[in-house]
Parts: sequence; C-alpha cells; structure tokens
Amino acid sequence: MSAGDSFIPFSRPSVTEAEIVGVERVVRSGWWTTGPEVRAFEEEFARYIGASCAVAVNSCTAGLHVALQACGIKPQAPVFLPAMTFAATSEVALYLDAAPVFLDSEPDTGNLDAFQFEAVIDALASDSRGGALRSDALCEGTRKMLRTANLDLPGAVMPVHFAGQACRMNLLEPAAASVGMSLIEDAAHAVETTFGDRKVGTFGAASAFSFYATKNLSTGEGGMVTTDDEDLAQRMRRLTLHGISRDAWKRYTAQGSWQYEVVEMGFKYNMTDIAAALGRAQLARVEAMATRRRQIAAIYDERLGRIEQVSLPTDLQMGRHAWHLYVIRLNLSQLTLDRAEFIERLRDLGIGASVHFIPLHRHPLYRDRFGLKPDDFPIAESIFQRSVSLPIYPDLSDEEVGRVCDAVERICTVGAA
Ligand SMILES: *Cc1c(COP(=O)(O)O)cnc(C)c1O
Repeated sequence: MSAGDSFIPFSRPSVTEAEIVGVERVVRSGWWTTGPEVRAFEEEFARYIGASCAVAVNSCTAGLHVALQACGIKPQAPVFLPAMTFAATSEVALYLDAAPVFLDSEPDTGNLDAFQFEAVIDALASDSRGGALRSDALCEGTRKMLRTANLDLPGAVMPVHFAGQACRMNLLEPAAASVGMSLIEDAAHAVETTFGDRKVGTFGAASAFSFYATKNLSTGEGGMVTTDDEDLAQRMRRLTLHGISRDAWKRYTAQGSWQYEVVEMGFKYNMTDIAAALGRAQLARVEAMATRRRQIAAIYDERLGRIEQVSLPTDLQMGRHAWHLYVIRLNLSQLTLDRAEFIERLRDLGIGASVHFIPLHRHPLYRDRFGLKPDDFPIAESIFQRSVSLPIYPDLSDEEVGRVCDAVERICTVGAA
C-alpha cells in the first residue's frame, strides 16, 4: 500500500440521496415500525421479481425459517442444502428439528451438485432409504447425514444461488416435485439473478432474499420471502408477527382495533418502515447497480485472466449472474503461499478480501454432531482451500479495481512456485 492510497474494504453499501431522503421521510412521519412503507416495498419487490406475493422480514434467515415452517416440514424430515453455504441455510432446519443433509458442490460454479440431488431422489423414488445410503453417486458426508433423517417424510431442498449464479433449476425443480419435496430457494445472493428467462424467486414453494449490509440490495438488516401461493404467504406473514390472526400492525392506526387473536406460536420477524425506506430506494437502483457489478466482473476477468496462478469464477451463462461475489481460486501448486497467506498479503497491500464459505461440515456444530471429516465433501473442501473473494460493489471505482488487480498480480509474481 503506497502513501495516499486508502484501504479498499471488502464490501461497502451504495448510498445516494434517495436512501437518505427516504429514511428521513419515514423518521419524520412518526411511523417507524411495520406500516405503509413496508407494504409498498413488498408490492414493488414482488413486481420486480415477478412473484404474486412478497412478505418482508427482518432477515433472510427469518424468511427461510418461516418458509420451511409454513411448508409443514416435520421433525426429522430431510432438508437438502449445499455444504458450501452460510450458517443460516442449515440452522433453520435445526430450528424445526428437521435433519439437514448436505450435498457436495459441483466443481465449476460452487453451487450444489444437482446430479447428486437427482441420485438421492432416484434412490428415494425407486427403492427405500437403503438405496440412497449405499449410492456411490453420493459423497460420504451426504450418506452419513442421510442416516439421521426419516426418509419417509417428504422434506425440503434449499438450493443456494452461490455468488449470484443460479443453480440448475431445470434439474432441481422436477426432481423435488417428483417426490413431493418442498423447494425453497436461498436467494440471499440472487436478487437480480435469472435461470434462463425466469427470475430466481419464482421457483419452488417460496424463496428468501437477504438485505444484510453486504448484499446486492441492502436495508442494513432485512429480508423478503416471495411466493405465488397466497395461502402460504398468509401463513408466513402470520408467523412473522407472533402468530397473530391478521394485519396485526394495523392495531395502532386510526382504522385499527385493540382486538386480536394469537392463533399459533409465531416469531418477532417483522421489518421496520425505516428499513423498508432504504429497501425501496435501493430497489429503484438495483438494475443500475447490477450493471456496475457486471462491469467490474468483466475488468477482473480481463486482467486476472492473464495470471496463471489464479483461476477465474465460471459463469455457465445459463441465465443472468448477479455477481454478488467475485471468487477467484488459487492454483496452489503454482504458488509458495496458501490461501490464508494470500489474504494477508492482500491486506498488507490495502485490499480487504474474504472467504465464501467455510463449508458447514468443517464447523464444530456439524462436524461433531454428524461425525464429519473434511474430505467427506471433497469438492466443497477443495474449493474452500483455494477460494478468495475479492471486493465487488457498485461504488468501487475503476481505479480501485485496478489496484486490486495490481495487488493480485504482485502477490502471484512474488509468490510464484
Ligand atoms: C447472507 C446469507 C444468508 C443470511 O442472510 P441474513 O439476512 O443475514 O439472515 C443466508 N444464506 C446465504 C447464502 C447468505 O449469504
């Protein structure tokens, strides 16, 4: 890092006057919690995605939780998800005492391996639990975790559109449907993503989006669940506010009444109007922000493609990539440093980087509960060892992107094996 160069953080939200004016308007209105701003954001978001219903929540995690519960996922039901994801995707299965079952990654994209999912479904459909447990199409980790699930229950599959690239929905959707399994998209990276011409957020029973501070569209903390099923939307909405019968937020308006009924156990998952004001301002700019992310990815492709010590992220071009993350993979045999050292050197040169993700089977919670070893998910493990996420966000200037490329180039030159 030379004098005068400021640190380039891994992530930074994109702020314009629109966000500030929107929040100020809501703060001045005196209605700070769930209200008209949230309703407007839900309608605008549903329209953008092309789904009939959207339910605002205070995180994607909350959205995944109410989606699973509203789909009626029972204790011990298998919930299939990638090993290569954030804690939230699996944690929500544990909330319901369901049985998370991790799937290994496909080698190029880092998404869950849809062919291994098909192998599970084939085994479940044709035979009994025994087939899936023995199938050598599956990795050891998946077979271990399957033993803890009740495979007579339909369960769910939660594909994560890693880095903003859609999973192979043409395979996952019919496979899940063939055995009556609920498909719930973890669309945390994928507000702008399509598979073919179809938007992510329109597949399966429900889809959850994240508006966490680092995500493509942010409200600080927040999320949204989309669905085309109005009954499901109503169930999810009720769960987000203490299981109160309906329109609980209206009870303090002029038209409201103090009367309400708690009809089931719910949660405190509602979004505030302050957050919704941020969301509406961001949604209005989401396409412009996506364009800038694509430009940055193209610059990285161009400049980093010349460096033999790194491999670029793969875009299968089966739809539109949202470029939430730009994850390079180190060709470790051509380097004298490992991934951790590489990230340290980047920091020395004034660049923030991160790792997406430490696969779930490496965390003590899952490692110890299911007796998992690093090589039980061999593809996720090898991707993890090599991955470095570089900064990619709309407010990153061309000059800053250039500095990131210079730094990667320098580290690779000095560290070449
Ligand atoms: C960020 C993230 C989540 C959780 O989002 P929150 O809004 O923080 O709850 C879930 N899944 C994935 C893949 C994520 O990256």
